[in-house]
Amino acid sequence: MQVLLESILDEVRPLLGQGQVANYIPALADVDPCQLGIAMLGTDGTLYQAGDADTPFSIQSISKVFGLVQAISHAGETLWERLGHEPSGQAFNSLVQLEFEQGRPRNPFINAGALVIADINQSRYAAPILSMRDLVRRLTDNPHIISDTAVADSEYQHRARNASMAYLMQSFGNFHNDVEAVLKSYFHHCALTASCVDLVRGVSFLANNGRCLHGDETILTPRQTQQVNAIMATSGLYDEAGNFAYRVGLPGKSGVGGGIVAVVPGRYSLCVWSPALNASGNSLVGMIVLERLSEHLGWSVFSPILS
Ligand code: GLN
Repeated sequence: MQVLLESILDEVRPLLGQGQVANYIPALADVDPCQLGIAMLGTDGTLYQAGDADTPFSIQSISKVFGLVQAISHAGETLWERLGHEPSGQAFNSLVQLEFEQGRPRNPFINAGALVIADINQSRYAAPILSMRDLVRRLTDNPHIISDTAVADSEYQHRARNASMAYLMQSFGNFHNDVEAVLKSYFHHCALTASCVDLVRGVSFLANNGRCLHGDETILTPRQTQQVNAIMATSGLYDEAGNFAYRVGLPGKSGVGGGIVAVVPGRYSLCVWSPALNASGNSLVGMIVLERLSEHLGWSVFSPILS
């Protein structure tokens, strides 16, 4: 496996330099686009890593998985009164559907949906920024995880689109807390910084029926785990979720920091990172790495069940 990871990274390295880092968040525009890392954690605890797998990066929308998990843990099924679990077929920061659909976001993994989730969590936690940081520390088993305040502040200064979504939802009665306060929480969640190795631990419960590999803590029930994986498979890569299902065939979640986490249910959690993005805001080289790996190992969840 180690040899396979190294050889896939070597194969795709010539492509580094294609794509664009997320320059709409000025603090992310300075990241070196030629970095590339991958980590894989088996449900038996075996960790593989290659390239820049220990380098921390801005997790951005990967935090939407943690926000959803936090909301499920205290709100359960009631959260679906506020948003759906259907793919959007739209860009992650699109406003068009929201107006048509009376301020009810399609799913928790587009920005509008993640903002509603952040609003739900804001109602529940006295210190939402710290609660999320602590959840991510617990899941990754890394007590040093922090939010990069320069990135969070930069996003807040350039919040026009996210603020528009939140105020539009407020106008439909689907936003309950002070918009500016929720935006600050949301940006701090996006600005959490973690490496591929941290994140494979962080989402290991999704490969392991809801239980963390370290500490044996139950995060979600097996049924809730399947449901989160299903939403990742249908909406985790925004308007490119279909392409990701076609090319990779795994539940996945991307972020504009260039990270993508993916899950081979019952077997592995994965994280690949390369900061330059394609036109849909997903890591260009990261997608190719996951495609090669999944093809090589026959991991698509759409392949025949092998006993
Ligand atoms: N913080 C980013 C935003 O709100 C997250 C987007 C992403 O990673 N797709 O625009």
